Amino acid sequence: MHPALADDLSRLPELLQSARDFAAREMSGLEARPVAHLGRVPDARPLPAEGVGAEGALTSFAERWAPGFSASAGPRYLGFVTGGATPAALTGDWLTSTYDQNATGRGDSLATGLEQETLGWLRELFGLGTDHSGAFVTGATVSNTVGLALAREWVGEHLGVSVSEAGAAALGPVDVLSGSPHSSIAKALSVLGIGRDRLRTVPLLPGGREAVDVARLADALEALDRRPAVVVANAGTVNTVDFDDLRAIAELKERFGFWLHVDAAFGGFAALSPAYAHLTDGLDAADSVCVDLHKWLNVPYDAAVQFTRRPDLQVRVFHNASPYLGLPTDEPDFVHLTPENSRRLRALPAWFSLAAYGREGHREIVERNTALARRLGDGIAGTAGLRLLSPVRLNVVCFTLAGSAGRERVHALGRAVAESGEAFLTPTFYEGTHALRAAFSNWRTTEADTDRVLTALARAVSSVGPSEPSERET
Ligand SMILES: *Cc1c(COP(=O)(O)O)cnc(C)c1O
Repeated sequence: MHPALADDLSRLPELLQSARDFAAREMSGLEARPVAHLGRVPDARPLPAEGVGAEGALTSFAERWAPGFSASAGPRYLGFVTGGATPAALTGDWLTSTYDQNATGRGDSLATGLEQETLGWLRELFGLGTDHSGAFVTGATVSNTVGLALAREWVGEHLGVSVSEAGAAALGPVDVLSGSPHSSIAKALSVLGIGRDRLRTVPLLPGGREAVDVARLADALEALDRRPAVVVANAGTVNTVDFDDLRAIAELKERFGFWLHVDAAFGGFAALSPAYAHLTDGLDAADSVCVDLHKWLNVPYDAAVQFTRRPDLQVRVFHNASPYLGLPTDEPDFVHLTPENSRRLRALPAWFSLAAYGREGHREIVERNTALARRLGDGIAGTAGLRLLSPVRLNVVCFTLAGSAGRERVHALGRAVAESGEAFLTPTFYEGTHALRAAFSNWRTTEADTDRVLTALARAVSSVGPSEPSERET
């Protein structure tokens, strides 16, 4: 054994203590450190021939890299939709690495049984029936990709083609319809050989809504003249957290043949609150469902779930037949259900958080985050120089500069907030306007944090300066 490795082995408990102490210091400093870092990346160093041991590596990391890491796990990082990690989730994540299980299937460990138990809990949390089976994947993009892979196989089944055997080309063009699809849907269609161009957007409801107009969707399906199609319904859009009417869309299945995939990446968490659960009515009727967990469940990256009513199609697409793994049985192992073969036990952090805080603890996070989003929305509406672009429907505040809000000024506003170290927001484009989004999904965000974000924004508005009538904006 290499001496550095042998030395580390002999001091493993002390090393873990050092890592624990370092992590605890970083966590307690999370609120004080700048939320974002826009500085220079340190110069790359050559590959060490002789290593410095784990303690030396920790010292080097602490000096060279840690100071430049963002406080994305903290309470005022409101970019994208970014959760943190609850204390229990973090505990589960450490133990995931400690046990280092390969959660492909049974045979040597009960770990996949824990994944099944966790999937059952999540199914209940999101109001899905037992006809839905699921699996953990790395994120909503992969969850959407798996759901659409099943959709592709289903379309094949209706046309008498086995896509998993004959390839996507055997299908011919596939129609994919959606109102406000997330960008990852197009990526998934590219990966699956369906093609980005096959994604056709259906008109939305009037009045600044991002929800699909179901009557127009019915017209589009009618025009397909009985060709099997794929509908991607959206439960929580990223700009204004609008929800398609899932029940009305599901009812169209009686008239038209289509696979219904629902992207409920973070909107699925509306189901946890009696005040918002109606937004997810009809989710259970979907053929496949995507929910992210590293967003509003507040488990560390990377984790999401996919659910489906057709595990048989899933086995057709993803089975991995090999002499040593054998063919899938009635209860197929995860190796036959997911894009990965070897897989991390991603369920453990989710299991820990659900065991620790239960449905009520996670409901409280959802309700507090939505109340804070409303608070920031009200604050922005009352701040000179800022303009709310949409009512705050759930946990995202979409707003822009009053007056001329061209790309440059809006992005400068976002940069000024980031440079203040107080908060981090990400830009978007909504209703023909450059805008910023503040997305609340972190378990530790408070009213005081929200007020700090508003103060930072108000200060940043004055730094961006008034718009010039002559200013040319693009
Ligand atoms: C975040 C998000 C995705 C993609 O999720 P990743 O975890 O980044 O892969 C897909 N759909 C929606 C609606 C999202 O918010």
